[in-house]
Amino acid sequence: MTRLNLSRLPTGGDVVVVNCSGLGARLLGGDRSVVPVRGQVVYVEQVGLDRWWLDGAAPTYVVPRSKDIVVGGTDDEGDWSRTPSPEVAEAMLSRATRLVPELEGARVLRHKVGLRPVRPAVRVERVGDVVHCYGHGGAGVTMSWGTADEVVALVG
Ligand SMILES: Cc1cc2nc3c(=O)[nH]c(=O)nc-3n(C[C@H](O)[C@H](O)[C@H](O)COP(=O)(O)OP(=O)(O)OC[C@H]3O[C@@H](n4cnc5c(N)ncnc54)[C@H](O)[C@@H]3O)c2cc1C
Repeated sequence: MTRLNLSRLPTGGDVVVVNCSGLGARLLGGDRSVVPVRGQVVYVEQVGLDRWWLDGAAPTYVVPRSKDIVVGGTDDEGDWSRTPSPEVAEAMLSRATRLVPELEGARVLRHKVGLRPVRPAVRVERVGDVVHCYGHGGAGVTMSWGTADEVVALVG
């Protein structure tokens, strides 16, 4: 496998190129309708939780995993910053602790920021020798099996 930072999609040869570049489609697909929606989370130690919580208002979510708990979140459209904000982290933890009091005093393990590749609609289509598959927004994991099947069919 070769990893490269591409300035454009490869062309030529008897190949089909699958463009699943997420936010990179702004450059590689010339598609400015894909925008970042910034999401910040905090990982805290596992304090014995075995069910997840979601309060859609802020949004606030608490997702227990085997060794840690993911606490979120944020939804900031157009924000490209990958740097976690300490103030945002504190506010998320405070909201989450109101929702799930067991989180009080839980040790913070790390902070993380991701940029969701949001588009008015997911793009899965073939144009010549390129199959585009991007714009899954905040549901890329959920939709990945379905859109991957569509890509396989389009590659033929
Ligand atoms: C905080 C947060 C919470 C989320 N929660 C959920 C959830 O609960 N459920 C869910 O289903 N989804 C969730 N998602 C969304 C999900 O992670 C994304 O929808 C998914 O990652 C999109 O997958 P993708 O493969 O299309 O794009 P990406 O994961 O962004 O992958 C694109 C790839 O293309 C590469 N690339 C881009 N440009 C270039 C270039 N010029 N040259 C070479 N390579 C390039 C990048 O390096 C990257 O590897 C969440 C995302 C975030 C940030």
